[in-house]
Amino acid sequence: MSVLVTGGTGYIGSHTCVVLIEAGYDVIIADNLYNSKLDVLDKIESITGKKPKFYCADVSNKEELDVIFKENKIDSILHFAGYKAVGESVGVPLKYYRNNLLGTIALAECALEYQVPKFIFSSSATVYGDGSVPYRESNPLLPSTNPYGETKVMSERILSDTAKVNPGLSVTLLRYFNPIGAHKSGLIGEIPVGTPNNLMPYITQVAKGKLAKLRVFGSDYDTVDGTGVRDFIHVVDLAYGHMAALEKMKQGVNVYNLGTGKGTSVLELIHTFQNVNNITIPYDIVDRRPGDVASSYADVSKAWEELGWKTEKSVEDMCRDSWFFEKNQ
Ligand code: NAD
Ligand code: UDP
Repeated sequence: MSVLVTGGTGYIGSHTCVVLIEAGYDVIIADNLYNSKLDVLDKIESITGKKPKFYCADVSNKEELDVIFKENKIDSILHFAGYKAVGESVGVPLKYYRNNLLGTIALAECALEYQVPKFIFSSSATVYGDGSVPYRESNPLLPSTNPYGETKVMSERILSDTAKVNPGLSVTLLRYFNPIGAHKSGLIGEIPVGTPNNLMPYITQVAKGKLAKLRVFGSDYDTVDGTGVRDFIHVVDLAYGHMAALEKMKQGVNVYNLGTGKGTSVLELIHTFQNVNNITIPYDIVDRRPGDVASSYADVSKAWEELGWKTEKSVEDMCRDSWFFEKNQ
């Protein structure tokens, strides 16, 4: 079974490549290295004993994709490649629409042209907007506060419409909650460019002394302690979720939440990080960040019932592994 992993040198893609290679899949990566480095391939090799085949290719460029599909018999596509900086997408929407939508379209065209039966797409809990928690896959998709989120909704639609009229192609849309953590080896993890926007990379950089203080955005939400609540998921659990989705793929279009089903507040995450790693994280409580929802966590029953997948790692594991990776940088 050969799997094309777009964005495979990135954060979630690299962990998924490790899990797939360890399970015996033939992994081919396509990534233009916009937000990742080539040495991730050596790190994947150190962990698994096997270096995946790599194409430095832009997935929004159909000609570059043709080369890959002509040279390899691809059985499944796992499409991670895309831009993901929410704030940046507000300032330069066309950059996001172009890259994320054209990538999805070009890959879907290749899936049809080269008769690839399985397509898995990296979507996000952001498609639920500010709906009621826990989010279920059947919830309505709400307009996003940013172009990044819109590219997820639109990509889901593009792939669903395509699969509906092409019975040879099945599509699984995976809606991730908040991936954090890193591989236990400390070799691969999330490497943000510039100052991080997301909570965990910010915490680890404060822990390391690269940043002085964390800002906690808002303490007046209707939550357990007033701070935002999120469903943090260990990236390795998330990677196993992809393998389960691949192996249990059903005909047609199917959607699954990938989360733990449990909400953790910003303050709870900070306190767990401090306790597990024995480090103090200085923080100030500041105003809410525009566009943030109070609570976001998944109903994960569908993934368990249909894919036989659930998470195994704790918030403690996530905090320990995130810090171990950051220390190794
Ligand atoms: P990442 O930036 O670490 O990885 C994405 C990879 O895609 C990078 O290696 C980048 O170089 C590559 N890429 C971008 N545009 C490309 C293009 N046109 N052609 C080829 N390669 C390209 O991001 P990640 O955190 O691993 O996220 C993977 C996917 O999951 C993304 O689609 C993201 O939107 C989605 N997602 C991420 C999160 C999260 O919190 N990390 C949450 C929900 C959904
Ligand atoms: N957050 C914070 N300080 C930061 C970054 C994030 O308080 O420096 C909060 C944010 O307001 C939200 C939660 O942490 O409640 C998760 O934010 P993140 O950006 O990691 O993920 P999101 O859920 O927004 O995709």
